Amino acid sequence: MENNELKKYSFSTLCVHGSGGADPTTGAISIPIYQSSTFKFKSARHGAQLFAGEIEGYVYTRLGNPTQAAFEREMAFLEGGEAALAFASGMGAISSVIFALCRSGENLVSTNTLYGGTHNFFKETLPRFDIDVREVDTTNLENVINVIDDKTRLLYIETPANPTLTITDLKACARIARDYQIPLVVDNTFPTPYFQRPLQLGADIVIHSATKYIGGHGDTVAGVVVGKKDFIDELRGKFLRDLGAVISPLNAWLLVRGLKTLAIRMEKHQQNAIKIAKFLQFHPKIKRVWYPGLTTHPQHELAKKQMEGFGGMVSFEIHGGRRAGEHLMNAVKLITLAVSLGDVDSLIEHPASMTHSTYSAEELAECGITESLVRLSVGIEDARDLIEDLSQALRKVKV
Ligand SMILES: *Cc1c(COP(=O)(O)O)cnc(C)c1O
Repeated sequence: MENNELKKYSFSTLCVHGSGGADPTTGAISIPIYQSSTFKFKSARHGAQLFAGEIEGYVYTRLGNPTQAAFEREMAFLEGGEAALAFASGMGAISSVIFALCRSGENLVSTNTLYGGTHNFFKETLPRFDIDVREVDTTNLENVINVIDDKTRLLYIETPANPTLTITDLKACARIARDYQIPLVVDNTFPTPYFQRPLQLGADIVIHSATKYIGGHGDTVAGVVVGKKDFIDELRGKFLRDLGAVISPLNAWLLVRGLKTLAIRMEKHQQNAIKIAKFLQFHPKIKRVWYPGLTTHPQHELAKKQMEGFGGMVSFEIHGGRRAGEHLMNAVKLITLAVSLGDVDSLIEHPASMTHSTYSAEELAECGITESLVRLSVGIEDARDLIEDLSQALRKVKV
């Protein structure tokens, strides 16, 4: 199908059908898993031409593989970008992008509420390379403008942020980034392109931990970057090549399959999340619920404006602090006590002691990640069963 013909279809149809159709060599409707590390050259000259970049083709799987390429094509298509590059993990994607954009002596400006691993990379690893990270509360963009200087090389935003689900204004960030001529990089893991397409709002680069909703089944660790073709080519040719965080063909295949059900999964995640958020909101043992779809969320209006839905993540504070939270997490029966998110099964965890234990006590306080905060990745089970499970567990909690 031609690209303009595809435009008449809705996003959920595009998730199922993808951009390209069947495998060009075999006609297989499911892209084959090209489980090969290396590719035969037709002649010595052919090999030399491939290495010189004079012609396109496959050389060695760290530099590209047809199954990986199929996943990249679909991600670029769904995010509305020119090109994409897959990685072995979300952190592989994030670290490669930052190293591609920043040199020692330079800095980046970022949201202060981030995935714990990203925060650790920003605050522990990057300073060893003399790259300074300025994490600020991006719900007030004055904070961003105040710390940008002539050594700032990018603006990095996670929205909705993990785990507090605070929302940052992407259009306004894109304007700031343009004013200072730096790229806006957005971690779009939580909403996925089904609910938010940052490139259309003015962002330059989108990153995913594809481990989460893109794969969707809790069976794959992977990452992906979407952006302009020039940038993606440089990322592949220099940083994937040198840092080596390459995705395996099997994992790329699992992600292509995951994308086919992205729309229907995201719808169900969201339907369930809304019901659970409303149930928790009025529960006497719950102090506060964080879900962008609730009118009580401080940036609900902004979420409505820049997102097409609110996603499947719900965080809440429980009366009785950390002990009550631990009691709840030990008492659930259907919901699994585990980190990660975006799986078909519901997962519950305690950010302050688990995913966000890389934050210092002061940093946790600054971001509003309290000891009593519990994060729930709402799965696609029947909402009644999930609410019943939370309900029985909350009955056991002493506040
Ligand atoms: C999990 C996650 C990451 C890191 O991805 P991995 O695949 O675990 O390396 C980055 N950002 C967000 C928002 C995440 O949830």
